[in-house]
Amino acid sequence: MSDTEKRINNLKIDPRIFTLKFGCQCNGECCNYGVYTDLKEFESIMEIKDKIKEGMDDSQTKDDKKWFEAPQKDEDFESGFAVGTELHNGKCVFLDKAGLCTLQKLAMSEGKHKWGYKPTYCILFPFTVYEETFTIDDEHIERLDHCNKYPEDDSTIYDSCTEELRHFFGEEGFRQLEEFRMEYISANKTLEKT
Ligand code: SF4
Ligand code: SF4
Repeated sequence: MSDTEKRINNLKIDPRIFTLKFGCQCNGECCNYGVYTDLKEFESIMEIKDKIKEGMDDSQTKDDKKWFEAPQKDEDFESGFAVGTELHNGKCVFLDKAGLCTLQKLAMSEGKHKWGYKPTYCILFPFTVYEETFTIDDEHIERLDHCNKYPEDDSTIYDSCTEELRHFFGEEGFRQLEEFRMEYISANKTLEKT
């Protein structure tokens, strides 16, 4: 996997992110399994639990003891610990009956960035970070019924998720990613010709 030796923001980059065809057109079934948050994200969410409850509907539980699993060690998370969100009514506890994330709704209602309260791995999907590599979350995509099962055009996952990539890597990181993409595509075109 020599292509992944390229590192940006200390993460190896899986070059499949430049080429996989992907279309995001469903109603958010990616939230049906919950998400792993970093321990620090879990703590930040619990600090604003009362405001979160105000935005919940009757398909959600306001019992915050039912919101998260126990923390577990995971070196892919900044703090070294991951905390999974629980499911309620077959969906992440933070997903409302309209298919909207309560954390995102709250941030927007307060005039903050829409992803201000959202766990990083929610923003990243269909990408993920696994063993220090920025890659595609094939495992989660596979188990979903609609996600990328019927891509409508030739867009790549990279094209579909530019906003998320820019947000995650920052402007300088995204510039490096774009540079790597151009190098990768040009090298592979050269290989195709030979
Ligand atoms: S990432 Fe996949 S599951 Fe999530 S909204 Fe897009 S198509 Fe649907
Ligand atoms: S926290 Fe929000 S975006 Fe993340 S899985 Fe739950 S509902 Fe979806």
